[in-house]
Amino acid sequence: MLAVKKLIRALGRIAREREIWPVALLLFAVVVPAVCLVWFTAAAMRNERLAARQKVSEAYLGQLIQAQARWDRAWEELQLNVMRAAASNPPATAFAKIVLSSNASSVILFDEKQRMVYPDKPAPPVAKSFSDAEASQLEHVAKDYAGAADRYHALGLAADDADVAARAFQAEARCLAKAGRKDAAIRVVEEVLGQDRFLGAADPQGRLIVANAELFALELGAGDLIARRLKERLLDYRLSVMAAPQRLFLMRELKALRPEIDFPTFAAEALAAEVSEQRLPMQAIMERIPVTDIWHCASWCGRALIIVRSDHFAALIRAAAGNGILALPPPVDDLGSVTYPLGSHFPGWRLALPVWKEPQSNTTTIYLWTVLLVLVSVAVLTWLALRVVRRQMALARLKNDLVATASHELKTPLSSMRLLVETLLDAKNLDEQSTREYLQLIARENARLSRLTEKFLAFSRLEREKNVLQVKRVPVRPIIDAAVRGRGIEVQTAPDLPEIMADPDALAAALTNLVENACKYSEHSDLIVVRGAARNGSVVLSVEDRGVGLEPREVKKIFEPFYQVDQTLSRKGGGCGLGLSIVDSIVKAHGGKVTVESQPGRGSTFSIILPKAT
Ligand code: ADP
Repeated sequence: MLAVKKLIRALGRIAREREIWPVALLLFAVVVPAVCLVWFTAAAMRNERLAARQKVSEAYLGQLIQAQARWDRAWEELQLNVMRAAASNPPATAFAKIVLSSNASSVILFDEKQRMVYPDKPAPPVAKSFSDAEASQLEHVAKDYAGAADRYHALGLAADDADVAARAFQAEARCLAKAGRKDAAIRVVEEVLGQDRFLGAADPQGRLIVANAELFALELGAGDLIARRLKERLLDYRLSVMAAPQRLFLMRELKALRPEIDFPTFAAEALAAEVSEQRLPMQAIMERIPVTDIWHCASWCGRALIIVRSDHFAALIRAAAGNGILALPPPVDDLGSVTYPLGSHFPGWRLALPVWKEPQSNTTTIYLWTVLLVLVSVAVLTWLALRVVRRQMALARLKNDLVATASHELKTPLSSMRLLVETLLDAKNLDEQSTREYLQLIARENARLSRLTEKFLAFSRLEREKNVLQVKRVPVRPIIDAAVRGRGIEVQTAPDLPEIMADPDALAAALTNLVENACKYSEHSDLIVVRGAARNGSVVLSVEDRGVGLEPREVKKIFEPFYQVDQTLSRKGGGCGLGLSIVDSIVKAHGGKVTVESQPGRGSTFSIILPKAT
């Protein structure tokens, strides 16, 4: 607590000493309203945005309610489609119809006893035997594939039953391929098995022989004709012999062999095969299969399980809802949208219209620009005001200091003079020698008084008319001579010293100040040297003494007006702390600078560096 108080007091003192208060108050007076303005504007903008959002939300909600009604109709239509297709077609055809027209991702169909009828299983094995010992012996034991092929061919021709004949020709094609006669094998598939008679021929496992044989031929390198035939066969859902697993298998194989071939029902077949194994419940509500994006619900007629994938279902809803309305599956955490439930049959699903895209209103833009403009102008005006205030404060301080120092400094010589004059007047019978001594003392005080007055005048003139200099091209030596005149000080100048652009009187006054200081602050004025030299395109005028010297921390301060390191020392020599600030002002007005090198007790060198005349 005590430390805090001390800190506050110390800060207050620093602020008072440095005259920070007016500046701080001005800043406060500007910053507080500016912050309030920003705060008010932000609040106004927030309200504006909220109001706009409210308005948009209401409008959007209306749109969403209408969209929900549209979706209800679309869903009803889908259900009716499913019902009609399931009621009036064999299962495979119903499957294709529903998938191709109703837009469900897939469907699983049931009969009236709730037995799954699609995806179906192959027909149960038939007891039609097909085995021929001789052909089998030739193929598997003797490895006489050509012989076996001939034998199978003969068997095929002889058989009355289409299934048996088809199996014989299929075996023939197999043996021909084994014998290396691929073309002959492909021909058997294309020409013999391609006959209408074998259209529905099935093997004992219930698989369609021709379709398998065609895939075999394609693997041997058969051409587009067989690929086309197989594709048509796979998409012909009236062909009841082909069961769903065989169809899906052949579709997958054919796609692998011929990637360009596309089956519009392939994805639905694959999905149905995947889902049919899970024995899903037949419920009216759309439900997700855990950890998948697959949803399912029963059709109204109870004969189908409708299956949709999330993105597919969302696309369906989007298409029905229109107007850029989105469908979001649960969990919906999109706070930037206005949402509305899709319906009680689709728990968690919501229709949504994003509001974050709302264009920035004109009012907001105007607010923003106004605030920016106001802040920028406030900043610029504050900066200008601060400059003016600081200048005025510096000037006021200077005036105060000037008055205080002037009256203080003038008091000493004036009172000594009064004392001397009074002594003179009071003295009776004063001899000439004493009178002269008194008068000499008065004259010295007078000279000191004149010097002081001159300095005050010079300083205040310089402060008033900073840039009024009579600059011309001048040689350096006469300026140095003027500064050292009558003091018997050593001068060293380079012979070819370049000329400089300067006001000779002002510069001589500045140099005189340095010389006077050198004399004032050293005991042996015969050790003082004034030099003039050229260095790096500049002319350097330096005054070197072997006097008291300066501490490094003092060097920075001695150019400030009224600053004196040691007042008794200064005053003895008639100083008032203005000499160096006058020098600094004059040199700066010439575009130059003053430097100091000094060591306490060893002396100082003050240098005026000026650019040479061009
Ligand atoms: P003053 O009139 O008091 O000499 P100046 O502005 O000329 O004021 O100098 C400021 C202070 O710098 C002086 O008080 C003195 O302490 C110091 N100073 C100036 N010149 C020298 C010097 N040649 N050697 C040592 N100190 C100096």
